[in-house]
Amino acid sequence: VKQVSLPTANPSAWLGVMGGGQLGRMFAHAAQAMGYKVAVLEPGKDCPAGQVAERLITASYTDPAGLAELAQTCVAVTTEFENVPADSMAWLGERSFVAPSASCVSIAQDRIAEKRFFVECAPRSGVMPAPHKTIASHADIDAIDDGLLPGILKTVRMGYDGKGQVRVRTREDVRAAFDAMNGVTCLLEKMLPLAYEVSVLTARGHDGVSVVYPIAENVHRDGILFTTTVPGPNVSEACAKQAQDAARAIVDQLGYVGVLCIEFFVLQDGTLVVNEMAPRPHNSGHYTIDACVTSQFAQQVRAMARLPLGDVRQHSPAVMLNILGDVWFEGGSDVPREPAWDRVLALPGANLHLYGKDDPRRARKMGHVTFVAPTLAEAQASLREACTILG
Ligand code: ADP
Ligand code: MG
Repeated sequence: VKQVSLPTANPSAWLGVMGGGQLGRMFAHAAQAMGYKVAVLEPGKDCPAGQVAERLITASYTDPAGLAELAQTCVAVTTEFENVPADSMAWLGERSFVAPSASCVSIAQDRIAEKRFFVECAPRSGVMPAPHKTIASHADIDAIDDGLLPGILKTVRMGYDGKGQVRVRTREDVRAAFDAMNGVTCLLEKMLPLAYEVSVLTARGHDGVSVVYPIAENVHRDGILFTTTVPGPNVSEACAKQAQDAARAIVDQLGYVGVLCIEFFVLQDGTLVVNEMAPRPHNSGHYTIDACVTSQFAQQVRAMARLPLGDVRQHSPAVMLNILGDVWFEGGSDVPREPAWDRVLALPGANLHLYGKDDPRRARKMGHVTFVAPTLAEAQASLREACTILG
């Protein structure tokens, strides 16, 4: 067992990350700014994080040699990939300091375990998930309570950005959707009347001290995050407090270490419903890079290194716009065209972040832009201009 008794990992040490996507890239930037070196384990070639890390280990997430190299190199390891095999995190956890733990990751990557945890936590958190039922067989479909329809059938594992989800109105729809997913275990969730969606980004240190960022209001398009606005124009003070208190109860009950983001629905009658959690920095927390004292990525570095957590104070109202590959194909062209970044960057308060992906594809997250301004209205004005420029 290597260095797990160290109280903190001092800068100049190596930090490891499972996964080489944009979250790993922005984590590496934050770690490097504090003097750490970063090793990334990723199966794919030419990944966003691999372009900036000091070391790229090209290996599958279960490759013993790759995992051993990561554990030997790094005083602490985290994940940027929600669906990292929990067994690999457990194996790393016996050889290095791992945050978040394998057990927390395994709850967050399984919608059944996640819902069960939210129900168990409800007496402390004060929030419940949507009514739901596990669908593993045709007998389960016969036993569906009519009150769960219309609903959404979601695969239990590997879902993200609305993938692996089908909207269903009738029992027959459920049967067809279940069969079309080749019979993998699913979760049927009642379709709720959403007023808006929010997320709460939190971080908890190994000492049990937690911090909660300002509540973020999120707009999705086609199941993918479109914008995040902080402060949220619809969010009441009471709603913000309830969501932040719930988030604190959830990270405490998990015994979580690291950055965790929890998504909530706010229903038309004002009820707060907990949806899902991501055991890592989150797309809706990207605004923290430009608008908060400590970004979510710097916070992850601190949690991993067992350093004091940073100040979550937001110093400017902010709006984040995701940039998908679609904007390279504006006007219906089949040949990708570079968007007018000069015009976007001319807008007041613009901070452009591109992830180093040279192959723009529709629905692929290529980057984001965060507008910060003295007032939310000014940030929103820049956002509207950016949407016009990018199409
Ligand atoms: P993903 O893992 O793809 O993010 P989510 O469970 O967050 O999956 O669902 C994606 C989006 O679908 C949500 O942000 C929300 O807009 C909508 N959605 C999901 N579940 C429900 C529900 N029970 N009722 C209404 N809308 C839902
Ligand atoms: Mg979601």
